[in-house]
Amino acid sequence: MQPSRNTADTFDAVVLGGGVIGLSVAWRLRQRGLSVAVVDPDPGHGTSWVAAGMLAPVSEVAYGEERLLGLNIDSARLWPSFAAELEELSGEPSGLWECGTLVVASDPGDRAELEALMAFQNELGLGSQWLSSRESRNAEPLLAPGIRGAILVDQDHQVDNRVLIAALLAVVRRSGVVLYGCAASEIEISEERALGVLLAPGPGCPKKALPAGTIVVSAGAWSSQLKGVPERFLPHIRPVKGQLLRLLGNPEQAPVLGRTVRAQVNGRHIYIVPRLTGEVVVGATSEEMGFDTSIRAGAVRTLLDDASRVVPAVDDLKLVESLAGLRPGTPDNRPLIGPSGLDGLVLATGHGRNGILLAPLTAQLVAGWICDSSEPPKDTSPSRFFATRHEARLEPR
Ligand SMILES: Cc1cc2nc3c(=O)[nH]c(=O)nc-3n(C[C@H](O)[C@H](O)[C@H](O)COP(=O)(O)OP(=O)(O)OC[C@H]3O[C@@H](n4cnc5c(N)ncnc54)[C@H](O)[C@@H]3O)c2cc1C
Repeated sequence: MQPSRNTADTFDAVVLGGGVIGLSVAWRLRQRGLSVAVVDPDPGHGTSWVAAGMLAPVSEVAYGEERLLGLNIDSARLWPSFAAELEELSGEPSGLWECGTLVVASDPGDRAELEALMAFQNELGLGSQWLSSRESRNAEPLLAPGIRGAILVDQDHQVDNRVLIAALLAVVRRSGVVLYGCAASEIEISEERALGVLLAPGPGCPKKALPAGTIVVSAGAWSSQLKGVPERFLPHIRPVKGQLLRLLGNPEQAPVLGRTVRAQVNGRHIYIVPRLTGEVVVGATSEEMGFDTSIRAGAVRTLLDDASRVVPAVDDLKLVESLAGLRPGTPDNRPLIGPSGLDGLVLATGHGRNGILLAPLTAQLVAGWICDSSEPPKDTSPSRFFATRHEARLEPR
């Protein structure tokens, strides 16, 4: 695509949704010389605001998800340079903390499961290391005395997602991306081509159209709700609810933990993510509840019980926030990045439980497609669902 300057409200690219994905994409497109707008009524305050911010391809790996693992590892490799560039150009901290992760076995059953997981990780060449109970407690003195050992994953880190959002908002503003604090009511389409985005009228939002060379859909869990797009071109996204807690230790003292601690307690996954600010994030549930974001007392109790079983000192922290977010889930847990099948409409959505981790790779792939026509890898391509989506259209009449 030939970059051009924007005239009034016409852009080379309009990015619909300003979470971590949309903001990263907008930044990279602007760096390539395109005129770019982001449309979002509350940028940065969707699921990206709720997340725990783990950059954890290795400790997240699940049987049968080797293709997702490849994408996660590629993006994890981009993180240090992405964060350094973001800090330099935004003048803000990125929130990246290269602290490593410990995956803890809390009873003999968990230990057997973790040993099998570590064998799987090592088969994949991921190089994790087993620590005995004593070694684990030497590494993290506040672990419960009864823990049965742990996998040390040195390469899984974290980013404070709220600090990251502030830096991304600063960099897109500085670089000349236009932010519209409005919802998109519709994508305008003519003759099987996306032409622009219609803003929903509201306070500070006139009813108007933003014509665009390309529209990037990065509306997270809401990406399937967009009006105007024929059903067959809409991404298959469903909301997967996650409830999570934010606790606070003494900001004057060292963080409660020196690295992220993950564990399984009675078959449930739990993570405890310390921040350098003294904050501690405890999460998370995974629930198929549609667009419900209510906080359930039982979920709060279970998260606290499980966390304090692994790190008893959690009981002494202040509970400052309980919240729920909606992971944008796809049928195969891999994101949708690339052409939607409708001219002018590009997808950057469906990042499920890994959207913070996958932001640098997603932005790179979207910019590569729009600016250089480089095909994104097959594992992310929305075309993997075209067969089912287009079946009806291709049937002989
Ligand atoms: C509890 C929990 C913990 C998580 N932990 C991690 C983690 O540790 N590591 C990790 O990598 N990932 C994690 N995730 C997943 C991660 O948060 C998501 O994958 C990621 O935030 C998705 O980013 P996004 O930009 O696509 O979506 P969002 O951040 O939800 O942004 C979408 C934006 O679209 C906007 N929007 C929606 N509809 C419209 C419209 N019609 N017009 C304009 N704008 C619109 C919304 O306002 C929103 O700002 C977690 C998720 C949850 C719920």
